[in-house]
Amino acid sequence: MADYTNEIKKRRTFAIISHPDAGKTTLTEKLLLYGGAINLAGSVKGKKTAKHAVSDWMEIEKQRGISVTSSVMQFNYDGYCINILDTPGHQDFSEDTYRTLMAADSAVMVIDASKGVEAQTKKLFKVCTMRGIPIFTFINKMDREANDTFELLDEIENVLGIQTCPVNWPIGCGKNFKGVYDRNTNTITKFTAANNGQKAVDRVEVELGSEELDSLIGTELHEKLSEEIELLDGASSEFDIEQVRAGKLTPVFFGSALTNFGVETFLQHFLEMTTSPLPRKAHEGIVDPLKEDFSAFVFKIQANMNKAHRDRIAFMRICSGKFEAGMEVNHVQGGKKMKLLQPQQMMAQERKIVEEAYAGDIIGVFDPGIFSIGDTICMPNMKVEYEGIPTFAPEHFARVRQMDTMKRKQFIKGISQIAQEGAIQIFQEFNTGMEEIIVGVVGVLQFDVLKFRLESEYGVDIRLEPLPYEHIRWIENKDIDVAKLSVTSDTKKIKDLKDNSLLIFTHSWSINTVLDRNEGLVLSEFGRS
Ligand code: GDP
Repeated sequence: MADYTNEIKKRRTFAIISHPDAGKTTLTEKLLLYGGAINLAGSVKGKKTAKHAVSDWMEIEKQRGISVTSSVMQFNYDGYCINILDTPGHQDFSEDTYRTLMAADSAVMVIDASKGVEAQTKKLFKVCTMRGIPIFTFINKMDREANDTFELLDEIENVLGIQTCPVNWPIGCGKNFKGVYDRNTNTITKFTAANNGQKAVDRVEVELGSEELDSLIGTELHEKLSEEIELLDGASSEFDIEQVRAGKLTPVFFGSALTNFGVETFLQHFLEMTTSPLPRKAHEGIVDPLKEDFSAFVFKIQANMNKAHRDRIAFMRICSGKFEAGMEVNHVQGGKKMKLLQPQQMMAQERKIVEEAYAGDIIGVFDPGIFSIGDTICMPNMKVEYEGIPTFAPEHFARVRQMDTMKRKQFIKGISQIAQEGAIQIFQEFNTGMEEIIVGVVGVLQFDVLKFRLESEYGVDIRLEPLPYEHIRWIENKDIDVAKLSVTSDTKKIKDLKDNSLLIFTHSWSINTVLDRNEGLVLSEFGRS
């Protein structure tokens, strides 16, 4: 009994978010380094050396140098078992980020010290707050010229709207970066960039105000630091773990991932402050992670991770209990008992088959096409169904033209599978069947992904004709005759794959006009899954 509860209690599962280039990959890599998961940093992703990356599964990512999919990595450190969820940095994949955050218990936000809060930081942060999870901030690249530290904090507070509480404070920046001052222990950790950060660095700890410190960082920086800390103690928010857990206060850390400044300190504090796997909401009530029975939900479906095998993997977050390979489970939505096929986990660079996994862990299982995002898997004796994952309303639409009509079957199969993964949503013209297909996406890059994947994975060539619609509403009335609805000229009637009727609009004002013209009509922004 105690055996599995201890395993669960030592789990920490978090997502990393950042604007592209802020240093998310580098930080992840250094964290793995501390866990001993990799011996030499630099192997997670090497954009310049074009090495294979752990998180870059798709060809398109390599071509564009962006991370489209999110991956999971597990490592052990200081008695903890840590699951890191990588998220796509590009705004067009914010829906994917949201799903990944559904599987995390907290998030780490990486900010470039010379850039501050960037466009994508804002968007991703917003997605985090929708989830209401604790957010930890790592201000990176202190080895370069950085913005004023107080200004950086002000920016986070004002632009993102979250209180900040610096856990440590940088001493200088750029060429003068000497290390960080820890406000909890009142000590300085002076770092030396050993081997360009390829090895764990040595640390020297001394008291603030000591003569020793004068000689370490110089009188000038020592004085500046003392002043800043005094100011900070008077002005900044008090550390309050409850506020952190409520997502209202973010602990802030400074460092430099590339040169390994402050990474381990960050990891140690973070592990203490963040929680073990949190209870999850199900329709039946809250499920305790320490419950003995295994339960999980699918948050991501990824096809063709392994080109040679043309496989499809469903990623699930374990919410309670212990998973053992070969155990019989119930797929709630499918209404079937089954065994999960080829359960696997990512350990640093490798995928490996798992024999057992615990609440907080993410496992990927082979999916013969039966799982959908949001599905619950649990022990057959359990009565639980986790709350689904809402889909984002698509904001861009295009008509799909298939170039080679002989390949109709592959086309339908490909586009349906990609839709099942949640990367796109597909619709049909109101009056026709699958002859006319309309695709809706949250970010336009997803159109490129669709075209690319249909070509490379299904051998189907398509042309996308952009449509002017930007707003979508599902028709809630079951008994209404959609054909008779009076709509504006910029409105189109369509159906989703489940035969639900909906309207897409070019202009937002038309939504009200249509509501005014059709008494009793009820429109909803969210689709039913
Ligand atoms: P991501 O897009 O957020 O994953 O960013 P990367 O980790 O790929 O980093 C983007 C660039 O910034 C790379 O060239 C890194 O080497 C560099 N970089 C990352 N962290 C630091 C840092 O602490 N200091 C400096 N000077 N460069 C960094």
